Amino acid sequence: MTITEPGIRRADTQPVSRYHTIGIGAGPSNLSLAALYKNVTSERLALFDSRPGTGWHTPLLYPGVRMQTGWMKDLVSLVDPRHELTFLNYLVTSGRLYALINSQFDSLPRIEYERYLTWATERLGVVNFGAQVDAISLTDEGFQITVDGVPAAVSEHLVLGVGTRAVRPAYLGGLPAERAFIADDLGQRLAALDRTAPTAVIGGGQTGLESVLRLLGSGFTDVRWLGRNQWFRSIDDSPMANELYRPSHIQYLQGLNRGKRRQMIDDSRYSGDAITPGGLRALYQANYDGFLSLGQFPVTLLPGRDVQTSDLLPDGNIRLCCSTSTLPEEHVVRQLVVAAGREHVAAPFDDDLRERVEVDDDGDLLVEPDYSVRWKGMNGHKIYTFNASRYSHGLTNAGLTQLPVRAAIVLNSMFEREIYPIADDVCAVRW
Ligand SMILES: Cc1cc2nc3c(=O)[nH]c(=O)nc-3n(C[C@H](O)[C@H](O)[C@H](O)COP(=O)(O)OP(=O)(O)OC[C@H]3O[C@@H](n4cnc5c(N)ncnc54)[C@H](O)[C@@H]3O)c2cc1C
Repeated sequence: MTITEPGIRRADTQPVSRYHTIGIGAGPSNLSLAALYKNVTSERLALFDSRPGTGWHTPLLYPGVRMQTGWMKDLVSLVDPRHELTFLNYLVTSGRLYALINSQFDSLPRIEYERYLTWATERLGVVNFGAQVDAISLTDEGFQITVDGVPAAVSEHLVLGVGTRAVRPAYLGGLPAERAFIADDLGQRLAALDRTAPTAVIGGGQTGLESVLRLLGSGFTDVRWLGRNQWFRSIDDSPMANELYRPSHIQYLQGLNRGKRRQMIDDSRYSGDAITPGGLRALYQANYDGFLSLGQFPVTLLPGRDVQTSDLLPDGNIRLCCSTSTLPEEHVVRQLVVAAGREHVAAPFDDDLRERVEVDDDGDLLVEPDYSVRWKGMNGHKIYTFNASRYSHGLTNAGLTQLPVRAAIVLNSMFEREIYPIADDVCAVRW
């Protein structure tokens, strides 16, 4: 466990540390919480993250990848623009303000956002890296977390920010790992791949697109991009679509019944779960450049293909069997990159706590408007969760657009007073 805050020590050699609040995960969700927390209370908070150090989806970062959200959507600005951890303060204090402005990015490089998170993490000094929380239990003193099998800390309240992980579809099993892998492994495997061999990228979202662009930029000449939907969709970034990412809309969603809310959230998914428009343009232009030099397009776009199974042929090639809107299809490739979406990471509750936590018909945690989880025997101790409540809190729940607003709502609830007023009244839309 890397120690970043004086007083936090390895639990196998020292007594268990006590905190007012423990956060599991030190991604943007809990960093935003920690940033606001530090300015409103002298109580102690610590975050625990299994990563060895700072980072943000690091395996998927490389030059050229861009953010899907604007720079004002940082850890703090939406509720506290005078906070020292604004993105603007990061730019000024790191001396890169003018260079970035004059580069006139439509969307920021993701690497820059990662650097910003590293800068903020260092200033917060509350993150314990290399700390895989493998159990959360309820004790007489509150929540106890176990790190690497050893009780490490106890707290009054718990905030889950455990995020998501890449889906590994069943058809990857049985294929050679050095030639068939998830997009997170592409950077590590790229050098050993055959640039002229047929290479499939499966997944029509942003990560699929970025994998295709990365292969194209590395000189691959036969890339086949397969996606389940009928076309590769860009994000709807219109003003109306952005109205869905406001506190007033989240509040409106809370007032709907579950079925209606779910339908509205599903209907609006392409305002967020899709490709950055500039990314598709970059692909089309690079593909056209490839056509001019090779006499054929290096990338073939294959939308409407849902890969069901795969098998390894005697010659070492990989056969993919897909359903389509008409007849099934087969694609034979040598190499395979999978970007099939992300799934929630389950909180490591022990059996007793898992029994106490209430879930809905889909098995998802029941999350209140203040992001608290309903559980039996709360006794003043609260569990909050970020990113586990898509169908209660909408699409903002999965992204960066409302980070400080969510954190402010949690703090208002935790300290039972309106520390941060959440006002969003200047709105022309009546939902
Ligand atoms: C490649 C990529 C790009 C994205 N770009 C954007 C974007 O531009 N704009 C946008 O709005 N959204 C974007 N998103 C979606 C979303 O905003 C991010 O996934 C964001 O990082 C979510 O923050 P988080 O803190 O909730 O979770 P995460 O960032 O996933 O952090 C969760 C952390 O919890 C840790 N953890 C999990 N379980 C444990 C455990 N048991 N013990 C200890 N630590 C644990 C993990 O190590 C991880 O560091 C992107 C997602 C991806 C995958």
